[in-house]
Amino acid sequence: MTATAEPTTSVSKLKYLSAGKWTDSGTKRFGDVFNPSSGKVIARVPYCTAAEADAAVKAAHAALPDWSATPVVERVRVLFKFRQIMLDRFEEIARSVTREHGKTLPEARASVQRGVEVVEFACSVPTMIQGTTMQDIARNVDAETIRMPLGVCVGITPFNFPAMVPMWMFPIAIACGNTFVLKPSERVPISSNLLGEMMKDAGCPDGVFNIVHGDKEVVDTLLTHPLVRAISFVGSTAIAQYVYETGTKHGKRVQSAGGAKNHLLIMPDADLDQAAQALQASAFGCAGERCMAGSVAVPVGGIADPLVARLKEIGGKMKTGPTDSDATVDMGPVITRQHQQKVAGYLDIAKNEGATVALDGREVPAAKSEGFFVGPTVIDNVKPGMRVAKEEIFGPVLSVVRVKDIDEALAVGRDCPYGNGASIFTKSGWAARQFKLHFNAGMIGINIGVPAPMAWFPFTGWNKSFFGDLHIQGTEAVHFYTQQKTVMTRWFESAEESHHDPVWKAQRQK
Ligand code: NAD
Repeated sequence: MTATAEPTTSVSKLKYLSAGKWTDSGTKRFGDVFNPSSGKVIARVPYCTAAEADAAVKAAHAALPDWSATPVVERVRVLFKFRQIMLDRFEEIARSVTREHGKTLPEARASVQRGVEVVEFACSVPTMIQGTTMQDIARNVDAETIRMPLGVCVGITPFNFPAMVPMWMFPIAIACGNTFVLKPSERVPISSNLLGEMMKDAGCPDGVFNIVHGDKEVVDTLLTHPLVRAISFVGSTAIAQYVYETGTKHGKRVQSAGGAKNHLLIMPDADLDQAAQALQASAFGCAGERCMAGSVAVPVGGIADPLVARLKEIGGKMKTGPTDSDATVDMGPVITRQHQQKVAGYLDIAKNEGATVALDGREVPAAKSEGFFVGPTVIDNVKPGMRVAKEEIFGPVLSVVRVKDIDEALAVGRDCPYGNGASIFTKSGWAARQFKLHFNAGMIGINIGVPAPMAWFPFTGWNKSFFGDLHIQGTEAVHFYTQQKTVMTRWFESAEESHHDPVWKAQRQK
């Protein structure tokens, strides 16, 4: 998004959070935050300066000695409180997500609930950062490992889950004894500020959780900052790879999740109704702006014709419209006008490459409004080499690649550079097992349209959907945000050793 000069309008300018203080940025560069349902600007986000990002990292670093020395049970008490505040203000966060992102309210609520679950997971960190011990690794020598915080951690997040994705990161990092600097997406910064308020209200000490807004300038400052120890990134593949390479080059631990192209395989024996409904929810839920959205349907054999007909029918009945003002809407807008044009442009690309547009999302009435709408779209007769089969569109567009058998379907997956999610719909245990073991993706669904793992499991993207070793969420995240120390102790049985302990002395003298 291009930054423009300081606003003259009355739209409010957001603040950033550094060292516990909400501060007006001194920047001259601001971005517009839209309500995608109406196309109206609802806030202006500062593109903070490198100096402001540097100060936020220094504030996080200054808060580190106290916070890392705070007993873990006290640290998680802040998160228990944060969770309660989130529950008390649940509807407010969900509405903020709907307003700045465009999800329907039920979708926004579900995403906030997922975030709450990560906080609940983080509250159990005391059971997950325990070390291991082994006595007598040699005579009277014991060994132990302890898990310790890393230091200042950074989170850089995308637009598509304004509250949930930041919560994949900071609650776990902070519970582990780290301090945190969040750089939210400049397109959806409002919900992150809400979370910042709630963390303050929960008693999070100044400097433990900081938020800086901005674009590449801020990101680059964070990626190369000598005081930053670890970086969690979620976003598009090109930037994920850049963040991974830049961060690791500067000695940081990096987990970097990228884009996706997720396949939904429908076997001839699948229950047509169930599969079609799952495909509809997977491809068109959240307007297709999910890294786990099914974007390529791969029907095997004769199920293709009835499946496409059913998808046209149910997709065509969905109501696309403004999620902030119409509770009957099934699908909301995409994030910006540019993105709407990009998504719609893929329909022409598909036609030019010889595919058939079976359901045209450009024709929904909302597409002519001020909001940024594309309706549910189905593109049939797509070949694996076509752009709509290979590229992440990140909109409500389902490409249908017809194949003759499961081997051909597995080959479609093998050729995909991404590897986030994939699902199979079948009644056959054998087909499901073949798919589970051999499909080229890191998160598998069997008769499930969006196999996104819950907070307790890692988000195990493969290939160009993830750069790094330890994934986001689950115990892998606890390992990501901690470093181990191994201690070996030799014990001497001598009176001198416990010289000052009167009880010990008395015992020895018996
Ligand atoms: P994006 O890559 O454009 O932006 C993500 C973050 O990177 C933002 O905070 C942005 O400010 C920053 N950024 C953008 N350009 C940059 C640059 N040149 N240098 C440094 N920083 C830069 O992604 P997006 O459009 O906000 O989000 C959508 C993408 O996120 C999709 O590709 C989607 O698949 C992906 N995503 C992946 C997952 C996952 O778990 N794999 C989850 C959610 C979203």
